[in-house]
Amino acid sequence: MNHVTHFAPGPSQIYFTVPDHIREAFRQQVPSISHRSKAFEEIFAHATDGLKTLLAIPDGFKIVFTTSATEVWERAVQSLVQEKTCHFVNGAFSKKFFETAKAQKKTATKIEVMDGLGFDNPATPPDAELVALIANETSTGVCMPAEFMRQVRAGNANALLMVDAVSALPYQPLPWEVLDSVYFSVQKGFGLPAGLGVWIFNDRCIAKAKAIAAAGLYLPSYHSLLSFLEMEKKNQTPETPNVLAIYLLGKVVEDFNRRGIDIIRKETEYKAAILYQALDSHPLLSTSVSEKKWRSKTSVVAHVGDHAFALFEHLSKHGLLAGDGYGAKKHQQLRFANFPAHSKEVYEKLCDLIGGFHG
Ligand SMILES: *Cc1c(COP(=O)(O)O)cnc(C)c1O
Repeated sequence: MNHVTHFAPGPSQIYFTVPDHIREAFRQQVPSISHRSKAFEEIFAHATDGLKTLLAIPDGFKIVFTTSATEVWERAVQSLVQEKTCHFVNGAFSKKFFETAKAQKKTATKIEVMDGLGFDNPATPPDAELVALIANETSTGVCMPAEFMRQVRAGNANALLMVDAVSALPYQPLPWEVLDSVYFSVQKGFGLPAGLGVWIFNDRCIAKAKAIAAAGLYLPSYHSLLSFLEMEKKNQTPETPNVLAIYLLGKVVEDFNRRGIDIIRKETEYKAAILYQALDSHPLLSTSVSEKKWRSKTSVVAHVGDHAFALFEHLSKHGLLAGDGYGAKKHQQLRFANFPAHSKEVYEKLCDLIGGFHG
C-alpha cells in the first residue's frame, strides 16, 4: 500500500497533511471531548469560518454538518419541498437526487441529457419549489459552468436553487449571489476520510422550512434544516457528531487557505490541461466529454474502450491507481480525480505513463 496514489474520485487520495492532523487530534484527545463543550464549539467555528473564507461564502449563509451528501438530498426534500422539485440530470448522482425526491412522494420532474453532455437550456418549471443543479457530475466528468447557473436563476426567480458541489469544491467558483443552497462531502476534493457532509443554505431556505413546518407539513426526522439551524446558533450539532472529522476538515481548510485558493485553482487547471492533452493526442484513448466547456477540471473521465484493464495495470505498476468507470461504463472508462491532494508531479508522471501506453 506504500506510495500509491488513488485517482478514484471518492474516497480519493488523502491530503498529505491529514496523518499529522490526526496524530495531533489524538494528542489533544479531540475524539473524547463533549460535543456540548466550548472546545467543540471552537472546532465547529474554526471549520465553518475557514470554509467561508476558502469558498467566498457570503454573509447570511449558514453551514451545518450532515453524515454525507446523500443525507442532504433527503433532508432538503423533507425540509424545503411541499410538492414540486425539478432536477437537471446528466449522470448517476444527479439522478439519485431526483429519485430521492420521488421516494419522498414529491412530484419530481427532470431535465435530462445523455451521459457526457451538459445542459444548453436553462428553462425550469415556474412552479418548481426546488431546482437541483450539479456543479460536477462525477459519474460522467461533466461540469456545469457558473454562467449556466445564472441563466437558470434569470429564468426562475422563485425556486430555491440547490447545487451539488461534492466533486467540484474547493476548485470550482460558485455564483453564490444566485444560489440558495450548496452541499458537498469531504472525501473528494477535500482529501479527507469519508463520513461527513457539509450543507450550506441561506435565509430563503430557512423561511421555506419554517413555512412548511408552520403548515404542519413537515414529517419529523432526526435531522431537519430547522433542527440543524437551532444547534448551529451555538456552533453545535443536534446529535453526537464525528468530532474528529469536523476537526480535520477545519485543519485541511486552514491548509488550503494558507496555500491560497488561486494557487489551488491554477494547479487544478494545469493538471486538467495536461491530462486532457494526453488523452486527446493518444491513438487509443479519448475523453468522454467532447464539448470543452463541459469538461470537468476535477474529475476527468477517459474513454479507453477495450484497454481499461491494460491501462489500469500499466499505471498501477507505477503506483498510480485509476478509478473505475461508473456503473455501466465500468469496463470502458477510467476516471481520474484532480484534487488538491494530487500533486503536479504525480499528474506529470500520470501523463507520461499514458503517453507511453501502447495497448
Ligand atoms: C460522491 C458524490 C455524492 C455522494 O456523496 P456521499 O458522501 O457518498 O453521500 C453526491 N454527488 C456527487 C456529485 C458525488 O460525486
